[in-house]
Amino acid sequence: MNIATAPLAAPHIAPADGARGLYIGGQWSWPEAGARIPVVDPSNGAVLAEVPDAGVREAMAAVDAAAAAAPGWRATPPRRRSEILRRCFELMTARADDLARLISLENGKALRDARGEVAYAAEFFRWNAEEAVRISGDFALSPAGGNHIIVDYEPIGICVLITPWNFPAAMATRKIAPAMAAGCTVVLKPASETPLTAYALAALYEEAGVPPGVVNVLTTSTPGPVTAAMLADPRVRKLSFTGSTPVGRALLAEAAKNVISCSMELGGNAPLLVFDDADLDVALEGAMLAKMRNAGEACTAANRIYVQAGLYDRFAEELTRRMSALHVGPGPEAGTECGPMITAKAVDKIERLVEDALARGARLLCGGVRPQRPGHFYPPTVLADVPADAAMGCEEIFGPVAALSRFATEDEAVALANATEYGLAAYVFTRDLARGLRVSRRIETGMVGLNRGLVSDPAAPFGGTKQSGLGREGGHHGVMEFLEAKYIATGL
Ligand code: NAP
Repeated sequence: MNIATAPLAAPHIAPADGARGLYIGGQWSWPEAGARIPVVDPSNGAVLAEVPDAGVREAMAAVDAAAAAAPGWRATPPRRRSEILRRCFELMTARADDLARLISLENGKALRDARGEVAYAAEFFRWNAEEAVRISGDFALSPAGGNHIIVDYEPIGICVLITPWNFPAAMATRKIAPAMAAGCTVVLKPASETPLTAYALAALYEEAGVPPGVVNVLTTSTPGPVTAAMLADPRVRKLSFTGSTPVGRALLAEAAKNVISCSMELGGNAPLLVFDDADLDVALEGAMLAKMRNAGEACTAANRIYVQAGLYDRFAEELTRRMSALHVGPGPEAGTECGPMITAKAVDKIERLVEDALARGARLLCGGVRPQRPGHFYPPTVLADVPADAAMGCEEIFGPVAALSRFATEDEAVALANATEYGLAAYVFTRDLARGLRVSRRIETGMVGLNRGLVSDPAAPFGGTKQSGLGREGGHHGVMEFLEAKYIATGL
C-alpha cells in the first residue's frame, strides 16, 4: 500500500463530486433499482445534486467490503496507519475552502462556521495520527504472584457509523479517524440532508491512500431497516451514532439483539449560567458563541440562559443589540453570520417553541417573526423572562433563539441547570474561580465551558451523561471506543 504523494493543490469540489454514487470497497456505484435522494439548498429549495438511495443489499455489500479489508488494515503497522491519517489531515486542510463551501451549500451554515468546522474535522485526523502509534497495553504481576497479567488492545471489529446533518464533516471524521487509528474498518451512513460532504471526503480518503474497503459510505432513505440489517450481521461489532435521543434509544434496542458495543452522542439542552461577578463582555461573547455557532443548530448550543439578578437587565440589553445586528442570509454569501435552518420542519419547531414561551409570559426583545422569503430562515431572537414551564425548557430549540431567565442564588442556578433529562454541555461565567469550579462539578453534564462559549476540542473527551449519550469522542478516550481489551493470564 502506497501513501499518495500527489501535490496538495486544491481542485474545485462541486456538489456533483459528492454524487458519484455509493462508495463501497473503493468503487463508486449506483444501486440497480436506481432510486435517488435529492439534496436541497436550504436557502432557496433548489436541488443541488442527487445521491443514491441504498437498500439492504447495498448495505450488506458495504459490510462485506469492510470485512474483506479488515485483516489487511488490522495488520497494517500503526506507523503506516498514522501516516495515512496524517495525509487525510493535510488534504483536508489544503482543500479547506472548497469543503467549507460545500458544507455551507448543503447545510446552510455561514461560510465562517463551515470553515471552522473543516478545521475542527481535519484535526481529528491529525490527533488520531498521533494516537495510532501510542496505543499501549499493560503488563503486571497478579497480586497473588502466581501469574502475569498481559492486557492488549485489539481493534473491536467492523463498525457502523451514523451521523447527523448539523456538522456533516466533523461528526464523520470524529468517528472515522479514531476507528482507523484503532485498526477498524467502517461503514458510514451520513444524514440524508447533507451527504455530499461525506462523499467528497470519501474521495479525499482514497487520494490519501486509505485502502479500498477501510471506509465505505452509503446513503439511504430507509435508515431503519438498512441499519437493522447491518447490526444483525455478526461481523459488525460496533455502532457509533450521533443524532437525536429518540433515534439513539431505538438503535440501542436494535444493537442489544446482537450485544453490539455502542457509542451514543445524543441530544442536549445546555444551560448557560452568568453570575453577577462575571466579566460582562466575556459572558456576552461566550453566550453569542454558545448560542449562535451554526445558527444554534448544535447539540452544545446554549438552550437556556440563566443570568443572576444584578446583571440580568444589562446582559439582556447588550445580547439583544448583538443578536439584532447579525446578518442573516444564504450560508455561502459573503457577510452572512446566520444562515437558514436545515428544513421547513426545523423552522416550524422553532416557531412553535417561541409562540409557546410568549403565551406563557416570556417577553420578545428582538426577532420572533418568520421572514417572508424563500428558504428556511428564522431571525436571531431574544426572549426574556422565559418561565420554567415553557416547552423550550425541556426541548432542544436547535435555532437562533436565546431564552433568558433570572436567578438569585448559586443553589438556584445549579438546580435550574440540572432540571433536565439531558447532560451534554453547560457553560458557567464568573470571575470567582472557586465558584466556577464548584458549580462546574455540581452540574450534571459531560462537559462544562468555564468562562468559554466553546467546548469542542479534538484533544478532549466530548460526550454526555443522562439522556445525552454513552461514551466519549476525542482525546485519548475517542480511540478507546474502537478497541477491545484482551487479557492473557500468563504463567511465566
Ligand atoms: P436524527 O434524526 O436522530 O438523525 C441522525 C442520523 O440518524 C441521520 O443519519 C439519520 O438518517 C439517522 N437515522 C434516523 N432514523 C434512523 C433509524 N431508525 N435507524 C438508523 N438511523 C436513523 O438527528 P438529526 O436531526 O439529524 O440531528 C440532530 C440531533 O443530533 C440533535 O438532537 C442533536 O443534539 C444531536 N447531535 C448530537 C451531537 C453530540 O455529539 N452529542 C452532535 C450533533 C448532533 P436520515 O438523515 O436519513 O434520517
